[in-house]
Amino acid sequence: MATHPASHSLDSMSFDNVFTRELPADPESSNTRRQVLDSCYSRVSPTPVAAPQLVAWSAEVCELLGIDPEAVHSDHFVQVFAGNRLLPDMDPYAMCYGGHQFGNWAGQLGDGRAINLGEVLNPAGERAALQLKGAGLTPYSRTADGLAVLRSSLREFLCSEAMFHLGVPTTRALSLITTGESVERDMFYDGHPQNEPGAVLCRVAPSFIRFGNFEIHAARQEFELLKRLADHTIKNHFPLIELGDTPTTNAYIKWFNDVCERTARMIVHWMRVGFVHGVMNTDNMSILGLTIDYGPYGWLENYDPNWTPNTTDAAGRRYRFGQQSAIAHWNLLQLANAIYPLINDPDPLENALSNYATVYASEWNQMMAAKLGFKVWDEDRDAPLITELHDLLPLVETDMTLFYRGLADLAAKRSTLQDNAGDKGLISPLLDAYYVPEQLTNDYRARLDAWLRAYSARLNQDGLNAETCRENMNAVNPKYVMRNYLAQLAIDKAETGDFTMVHELLDTMRHPYTEQPARQAFAEKRPDWARQRPGCSMLSCSS
Ligand code: AMP
Ligand code: MG
Repeated sequence: MATHPASHSLDSMSFDNVFTRELPADPESSNTRRQVLDSCYSRVSPTPVAAPQLVAWSAEVCELLGIDPEAVHSDHFVQVFAGNRLLPDMDPYAMCYGGHQFGNWAGQLGDGRAINLGEVLNPAGERAALQLKGAGLTPYSRTADGLAVLRSSLREFLCSEAMFHLGVPTTRALSLITTGESVERDMFYDGHPQNEPGAVLCRVAPSFIRFGNFEIHAARQEFELLKRLADHTIKNHFPLIELGDTPTTNAYIKWFNDVCERTARMIVHWMRVGFVHGVMNTDNMSILGLTIDYGPYGWLENYDPNWTPNTTDAAGRRYRFGQQSAIAHWNLLQLANAIYPLINDPDPLENALSNYATVYASEWNQMMAAKLGFKVWDEDRDAPLITELHDLLPLVETDMTLFYRGLADLAAKRSTLQDNAGDKGLISPLLDAYYVPEQLTNDYRARLDAWLRAYSARLNQDGLNAETCRENMNAVNPKYVMRNYLAQLAIDKAETGDFTMVHELLDTMRHPYTEQPARQAFAEKRPDWARQRPGCSMLSCSS
């Protein structure tokens, strides 16, 4: 593969590849599928593609990397981020990791279609690993083809950037490039394979290390390697933890506590915005507490804690919305088991796991207080109110996003609503959130009205100025989320070569909390045609 010596804004990126420098590589250099023992990664180059074409990019990620956003329009950029050309200091590799999938140990998984290009140190001294997803076979590709299709790559591109702007910890996306080649996929694994356009996504994160990176070495009893990987992770990504020349168990305990807390905070954000990851296997859990591996994810439209978009998980609904915190806890337990040999004492690990639950509960309470516009959380007063709200929301089909935006209007206008129109008045700002108006029976309305009155009285106790209250609520309750049906409409157009909706969606999601009247179409609840359509409410792992 040729490198490109000519001067270019990309060439100003400064690489510092600590992962490959500090950790042992697979001694075998052939790109064949196999078990890779005693190594953290295998060096492997991306497979060149025929006719790369830039579809979308993130100007903010360019800036993060110190690249001039104009550089994306050059042929050089497209060749590099399609995997056709390496920059001089890139050192491409695929990581070795394992994982628990749907509750069972799955052995070696690894980067089967992701190839890390290297780690950039940006002008602010921040580290950013660049990773191409869909860049071809690696030793970890198992029985699959190493490729990705436009549909799923677009979903990941749009959603990871949207999550960033929503304030949710996440990996980022620099660019999305179609390959000009087609890829065969049987979307619902039902004997109907189709050719789809191939794509390569460039993802960006301080590190792509997952829980599964530690699990694989523990499972193989590669304890020296486990320690080296943990030391590497702490030294480079947890700078507040003092490691010293001979790390003590204390450092590992602090680190695990930190991972637990970051994970708790990430899940609370998911619950705040109504995000369902869909495949919370331990290989899809970032050690940095970032949302990673956007596959069959979804956004709650009608609030239903039992919902998952992932048809592959339809039977057990293991990864349903309401179970995400419990699953993260279970995943952390698997990580605790994996790193146990570094600590050799169950107590501090158990303490960290129970601290996860404490941090989660307290963060969740704060989050709910903020969503409802309360100044501070008061357990005795607020817990019953929130329990009743969560009992009410799933009773009739209620769009979560629209409900909370409507609630902010109600909070701001509550005195006039109450005085003027009796029972009808309080519900009026919320009517738009209901999918099936006939479900609003008298009984339901009476129960909702009682709640709204109690809620309104609770707001009065805080005595916040009406406009301040609305602004506070609208700063945590998004107006725009990456609704599946919108992503699907953008995909339908993109598959015909029209990328305008992709760009419009991305642009809208840059300011998800701000009213954008010209973009009202992206704030509407799911239309009826999208209720059962594949890609809108049902997604499989096929990508
Ligand atoms: P996921 O559930 O998508 O996170 O993937 C689980 C494992 O399968 C990871 O090790 C992926 O790298 C691998 N994988 C998924 N799709 C492909 C593919 N098309 N080619 C090679 N490996 C894949
Ligand atoms: Mg994965």
